[in-house]
Amino acid sequence: MFVDKAKIFLKGGKGGNGAVSFRKEKYVPAGGPDGGDGGRGGSVIFEVDEGLRTLMDFRYKKKYLADSGENGKAKKMFGKDAKDLILRVPPGTIVRDEETGAVIADLTENKQRAVIAKGGKGGKGNVHYTTSTRQAPNFAEAGDYGEERSVILELKLLADVGLVGFPNVGKSTLLSVVTKANPKIANYHFTTITPNLGVVELVQNKSFVLADIPGLIEGAHEGIGLGHEFLRHVERTKLLIHVLDISGIEGRDPLEDFDKINNELERFNPKLASRQQVIAANKIDLLDDKEKYKEFEQIMIDRGYKVFPISAATNTGLRELMLYVTELLDKIEVESIVEEIETDHKVYQLEKKEKEELIIRKEDNLYIVEGKSIEKLVYSTDFNDIDSIRRFQSILKKKGAFDKLKELGIEDGDTVKIYDIEFEYYD
Ligand code: GDP
Ligand code: MG
Repeated sequence: MFVDKAKIFLKGGKGGNGAVSFRKEKYVPAGGPDGGDGGRGGSVIFEVDEGLRTLMDFRYKKKYLADSGENGKAKKMFGKDAKDLILRVPPGTIVRDEETGAVIADLTENKQRAVIAKGGKGGKGNVHYTTSTRQAPNFAEAGDYGEERSVILELKLLADVGLVGFPNVGKSTLLSVVTKANPKIANYHFTTITPNLGVVELVQNKSFVLADIPGLIEGAHEGIGLGHEFLRHVERTKLLIHVLDISGIEGRDPLEDFDKINNELERFNPKLASRQQVIAANKIDLLDDKEKYKEFEQIMIDRGYKVFPISAATNTGLRELMLYVTELLDKIEVESIVEEIETDHKVYQLEKKEKEELIIRKEDNLYIVEGKSIEKLVYSTDFNDIDSIRRFQSILKKKGAFDKLKELGIEDGDTVKIYDIEFEYYD
């Protein structure tokens, strides 16, 4: 299977901080608290766009950070939530956590979405912290940090359009030209890919994968060396471009070739044979007798085919052919070629973060307490305010910090360091 890969870093936006504010009213010396909540940080979300075919964009940009939520404001005003950051990916994209390798999302349907890095919650404003004994809370909650993670995107490239035809009719030439002649056609470098696959993008967001299907005729229906892997590869093929050598320069008769290839296709896989075909009459540059082409074209039209006279070697008629194919692809709905394809589309969920453990260690005579939630708590606390400090202590206690400190042998008078603050411990 051909695989396109990219590794990127994602970070949800930080939640806005809650505000510390007090009502200001005329003739009232100190009003009650009115600090509003912070807004939610933006999440990083993947969304399937069926017009996309590659992970090319992720080669150039590796870091995606969603915006932070706005801080809360006075008069109980909420900070605005940040906009989510939506990243568009092609159908068939698998998202893996870089650290664990676990599949986080398997994106197959158009518009399907998955939240991959959640934005942080906004902090509560001080208006939430009044109690009967605490009328003027001098603290508010800081916003949560957004999730951050590195992920690996993987895309199995499946051909939308297959090139069929006898050897030497010009399939490889055609493929190489449409994937490089026109600057709007992506010249795509696949590191892990054989060269007979290319992405054609004449119309923006309507790219398709074109595959030269070599060896189809030479015994492929007997399953020699191709078999299931091959079938998977052409599974999504909606349409075939049947390349014929119209010049007859190698002594071939294009009509005879056409029927032979179709017989082979039928024997190989009837469903593949039933795919709509567009005829590319190649090597038109070598044909002097234009009447011969006209005759051929008429026969094919009578049989219900659309024919394009082209020359892959001189890049003639290719744009018309490819535009036609682009348009046609939009209209075609097809049955799957492979019936028993494994249904490996499971529903994955973001793994729940384990409850964060505090890290408490002793270094020389210093006891150090760390952990993201505690860091946040430190910045939410006003250490000049007794209520604020009490709340701080009760949260530390709830998280088991004091028990652990005792286990480590802390004694009265020892110093505890929590990020920017240090205090003396008394039981
Ligand atoms: P494939 O076996 O179908 O992949 O055919 P290739 O693309 O390898 O082409 C076979 C030969 O035909 C090569 O020598 C090409 O240069 C030549 N060829 C392909 N397309 C054209 C064309 O439009 N005009 C001419 N004159 N030669 C062509
Ligand atoms: Mg070839």
